[in-house]
Amino acid sequence: MRGSLNVQLSREPHKRADFVSTLRRARDWYRGPMPELPEVETVRRGLLPYLEGRVIERVEILDPRLVRPWAPADIVPAFAGRSVERLERRGKWLVFRLSGGMTALHHLRMTGSFAAPDQPEPSHVRMRYFIEGVQGSLRYNDPRRFGTLEVGTDTEIDALLDSKLGPEPLDDAWNGDVFHAAVHHRTAPLKAVLLDQKVVAGLGNIYVDEACFLAGVRPDLAADRLSKPRARRLVDAVKDRLIEAIAVGGSTLRDYRGVEGDAGGMQERFYAYGRAGKPCLVCGATMRGARVAGRSTSWCPHDQKS
Ligand SMILES: [Zn+2]
Repeated sequence: MRGSLNVQLSREPHKRADFVSTLRRARDWYRGPMPELPEVETVRRGLLPYLEGRVIERVEILDPRLVRPWAPADIVPAFAGRSVERLERRGKWLVFRLSGGMTALHHLRMTGSFAAPDQPEPSHVRMRYFIEGVQGSLRYNDPRRFGTLEVGTDTEIDALLDSKLGPEPLDDAWNGDVFHAAVHHRTAPLKAVLLDQKVVAGLGNIYVDEACFLAGVRPDLAADRLSKPRARRLVDAVKDRLIEAIAVGGSTLRDYRGVEGDAGGMQERFYAYGRAGKPCLVCGATMRGARVAGRSTSWCPHDQKS
């Protein structure tokens, strides 16, 4: 095995208070949509033909910030000569399972994306993957530079993911009863608990508003006031909206693009997200808007009564 890496994940950058507060400030400033589960899943599927089952000849890390607090020289050797055995997704993380028991973990954060080797050179390339049998390189591009890359053993990365993430929303094991049991004692608004990655992994502002609309529940309803039947409806709505979004390649509102440069189509199918002040597509009432859980939120006062 080449390039063995002694990574101590206790130094993960995203656990550091300064990184988290910078990210929060940047998010408040940015106010744009960020990749959520369907967008990350679309990227994963786009990467499959270039990575899964192939050997990484080498990588170049052009921006040290991507791997902070590590230096590129610490991380680069871990990739060389390893094959990508499986390309997985967990929540909003891309999980590259490498040969020899190593895993690489990309988080796109606000503006991270990948460009296929035959796509034009993006303007903010932070990393290149050179793959055996593939002409050119697969580029990781990130104008705002909040994306992260970590490399560790499978065990280290799994422990990291398990410490941060609850169930996957599209797993059958995540159902209305499980969700109800997890949140029925919480007084926070539904929006906050659905955004909590430990309650359910992968949701963000877009799909939480969309799921609440489809389920007919207000995003500012306190979680402990959600009945079991409505919890089941809400979970079904989360799954429905995610499945539909994945089928159309996610939502493109600002920066997000698929690996082949393609825009998603879900933004044309929104009922709630970003529609405050506009007429409800179902009943025509004016959609309400407010900040809930610190995030801009919209709902229909007629169709989402409580
Ligand atoms: Zn309505």
